[in-house]
Amino acid sequence: MSQGTLFIVSAPSGAGKTSLVRELIESVDGIQVSVSHTTRAMRPGEVDAVNYHFVDVATFEDMVARGDFFEHAQVFDNHYGTSRSAVEALLAAGQDVILEIDWQGARQVREQMDSAVSIFILPPSRDELERRLSSRGTDDHQVISGRMREAVSEMSHYGEYDFMVINDDFTTALDELRALVIAHRLDTRRQKQHHARLLDALLAS
Ligand code: GDP
Ligand code: ADP
Ligand code: 5GP
Repeated sequence: MSQGTLFIVSAPSGAGKTSLVRELIESVDGIQVSVSHTTRAMRPGEVDAVNYHFVDVATFEDMVARGDFFEHAQVFDNHYGTSRSAVEALLAAGQDVILEIDWQGARQVREQMDSAVSIFILPPSRDELERRLSSRGTDDHQVISGRMREAVSEMSHYGEYDFMVINDDFTTALDELRALVIAHRLDTRRQKQHHARLLDALLAS
């Protein structure tokens, strides 16, 4: 079985990455999103082990010490990390996997896996980013202004990514993400493994 592709998706908070990724995995088979560990407080409506594995700082630090994380970083005073074993098992089973992580984590992943495909999502304007952060209704004023301040520094890393998607019209951005995932499935090295029997038959003398 061929190994799946690892996609890294980064964006400033509120740009729409979680909504886009959620719709993407619903509309394409064979792709899953990795559930990160975080020390941040649960938002209303979030479910443990679905949105994140919510853990305390001591548990997170134990996991760091054991080498359980593929990558981890501190973002907005909270710790976030991707479990190594979960991602490796999915990729080995031929699933494509999406990591919704920040630019620091993206760097750590690229260093370990040069086949990873990275995508940066940008909002259509600063005003719209602020509107989305407020209208989501999950964070208080202080958290929103902190996230807006961090947004410019997160966005300044767009040039480190392979692809860039502007999330203005949601459906257009979703189509663009879907196109990237499908296109990577047509990579000749992957197609060669997937269609080994067809190629044998076509090329038989
Ligand atoms: P949201 O992005 O506004 O929904 O806020 P979150 O609190 O869910 O995530 C905040 C930031 O942490 C985002 O920029 C994510 O990309 C980043 N993040 C989430 N999970 C991980 C992870 O496992 N590793 C790393 N490095 N960053 C993460
Ligand atoms: P992120 O995960 O990047 O922080 P979310 O997916 O939580 O962002 O999106 C932030 C808010 O913006 C949500 O309320 C979401 O419904 C909304 N949103 C996402 N994409 C669009 C879009 N293209 N147009 C308008 N609103 C959007
Ligand atoms: P609002 O933020 O006003 O609820 O969303 C405005 C428009 O953005 C919606 O009509 C919809 O087209 C798009 N949109 C925003 N968030 C989402 C989302 O999570 N999923 C989908 N499919 N569309 C969204």
